[in-house]
Amino acid sequence: MNLDWNFFEEHFPLAVSSLKNARSAGRLTHAFLLCSSNAEYRTAFPPLLASLAACEHPNEDFSPCGRCAVCREMAEGTFPDLITLAPSSLSRIIPIGESEDEVDSMRWFESLFYLSGMTESGWKIGIIHEADRMNEAAQNAFLKTLEEPPPKCMFILTTSHPAELLPTIRSRCQTIQLTDNRCKYSFPNSETLLPILHKLAFESKGSLLTAEDCATALIEFAETLGEEAEKTVAEKWAPRLAESENLESAGKALIEKRIKGEESCEYRRLRDLFLSMIHAYFAQLALLVSNTPAELLPNPELFEHSIRQNEAEEFGADRAFRCLAYAEDLLRAMRTNANDQLAIRAFCLKIAFK
Ligand SMILES: [Zn+2]
Repeated sequence: MNLDWNFFEEHFPLAVSSLKNARSAGRLTHAFLLCSSNAEYRTAFPPLLASLAACEHPNEDFSPCGRCAVCREMAEGTFPDLITLAPSSLSRIIPIGESEDEVDSMRWFESLFYLSGMTESGWKIGIIHEADRMNEAAQNAFLKTLEEPPPKCMFILTTSHPAELLPTIRSRCQTIQLTDNRCKYSFPNSETLLPILHKLAFESKGSLLTAEDCATALIEFAETLGEEAEKTVAEKWAPRLAESENLESAGKALIEKRIKGEESCEYRRLRDLFLSMIHAYFAQLALLVSNTPAELLPNPELFEHSIRQNEAEEFGADRAFRCLAYAEDLLRAMRTNANDQLAIRAFCLKIAFK
């Protein structure tokens, strides 16, 4: 599915039309908080929002044209004054940073907004992904920028956990909710994840060997996500990288840095989908065993071939809800804990033995 302007206009007409109205009245705010549990929306919508502000030839209804240089560069992530900040360390924290030279820190991010712009449009766009992962010092520093923003800047914060942001940050941003229960779990090899989850749910009870097998398979799956992210980003950037052969080394280094940044964004996107697919599987299992008809499940495709009604009945509601709680523990642990292997192994053992 193409997550372009038309997609969001069709699926979130109220949110999008209020943005267009603000644009037409020249009252587009400089700070947005984009809340969605859908990682793909959190990646796809910010560049469109930036285009809404900066498009060179907007349509009559003020939506971005999607064709001008600005729109294309925003979509490709190559707009020179598009700066992205996201947790990059193992602790998954966005730190305030020792100095402006500490890449991926708040001090580094903010310093870039006080340099003169590199484009004719003059726009500078700052995107902070997983904004709830800013530590308190970083949030407080950013608050000052929100209170006195440099001219022609737009900040877009994305999060699936808005409650974890300081209320003072939330109140200075316009919130955009893109809530969608029908998240599509399409990412590389996602179809191979379902049999692992099915085996864990239905065959591991009391079996250390099966639980260990499932844990190993899940760990291996999680480890391929990094390579998949590299592959996707490398394909996208191949033409530009080839062009950059003629650039001087500073220009080349800049492109390489952008690629690294995008790889880490893509990795987080895949990781979020991986985790939310595990969660959705056990959430739906709990619904199914409490007699929700399969056709009313938000993602029936997760179960299409795998679960028969009698299997669900045997599983039992108590156990299904316990498993769901363990899946939630896993998500929490993997959002904060650096050691994926321990978290996944603990999860599988709990499913098998508790
Ligand atoms: Zn445009």
